[in-house]
Amino acid sequence: MKLKKSLGQNFLKDSFFLEKIVQSSQIQKLDDVIEIGPGDGALTELILKKSNSLIAIEIDQRFSEKLKERHIDDNFQIHNTDFLKINLNEINFEDKVVMGNLPYNVSSQIIFRLLESELKFKHCVFLIQKELANRFLTNQKATKISIQCQLFCDIETLFDIPPDAFEPKPKVTSTLIKITPHDRHANFRPKYNLLQEVLSVCFANPRKKISSALKKIDLFNESFSFDLNKRPEELEINNFFEILNLYENKL
Ligand code: SAM
Repeated sequence: MKLKKSLGQNFLKDSFFLEKIVQSSQIQKLDDVIEIGPGDGALTELILKKSNSLIAIEIDQRFSEKLKERHIDDNFQIHNTDFLKINLNEINFEDKVVMGNLPYNVSSQIIFRLLESELKFKHCVFLIQKELANRFLTNQKATKISIQCQLFCDIETLFDIPPDAFEPKPKVTSTLIKITPHDRHANFRPKYNLLQEVLSVCFANPRKKISSALKKIDLFNESFSFDLNKRPEELEINNFFEILNLYENKL
C-alpha cells in the first residue's frame, strides 16, 4: 500500500520501541484508551492486549477498514475521520489514556485541540518530533507554546526514538512525551485568549528585553516582581499572569 507523506505516515516498525511505548504509557488493565492515528495497527495491537477497551481515530480509510476487519471485537471501535474535525463531545474522554504516534505536520494542532477543549482525560502519551517536544518543555527556555501548555498541563519527556526505527525513515529523531492535565491555573483559563495575545506580543522578539515588548502594550510605568531586563524566554508562567492582569486592567 502506498503510504501518504501528507498524512505523516511514518510507521514505527521496531518492536523494542513499540513495547517500550506501551510500557511507559502506564496503561492499567482497567483503562480505556483512545489512539489517534493507528495506521497499520502496530501500537493498536499492543494497547488492546494491555487495556480494557480502545477507540481509534484514523483519517485514512484504507487503514481504518483493515483495522475494523481485523478487530471485530466489543472492546475495539474505530472512527474513520480527521481528529482535527471530529466533534470531541461525541467521544467520552473522561479518565481515558490518549495515545498516538502523531502525524508530524499536525502534532501541535492535535495537542492544542485536546488541551483547549479541557476534556477530562487521565493523561496522554504522544510520539512527536524531538524539536517540537523541546518547544513544549517547561524546564528549558520558555516559548509561547510552553507557556500556553502550562496553563493546562504538565509535560515530561520519556525517551527518544531514532529515525531508523520507522518505515519510511523520517529525517528527524522523535520523542515520547507524557501530558498530564492539572487544575493549578484554572482561574486563568477563562482568560486564555487574552493570554495568547499577551504571549504573541512578548515572544515576537524573544531575544529582546521583556521591557521592550511591554512598551508595545502600554505597560511602561507599572512595577513588576521580575527583572525587566530579562528576556521573555527567561520568564515563568506567573510572570506572564502578572503582565496579563495589568494588561487586562488597561483595556
Ligand atoms: N500508529 C502508527 C505507528 O505508530 O506506526 C502510525 C503512526 S503515523 C506517524 C500517523 C497516523 O496518523 C497515520 O496512520 C495517518 O494516516 C494518521 N493521521 C494523519 N492525520 C490524521 C488526522 N488528522 N486525524 C487522524 N489520523 C490522522
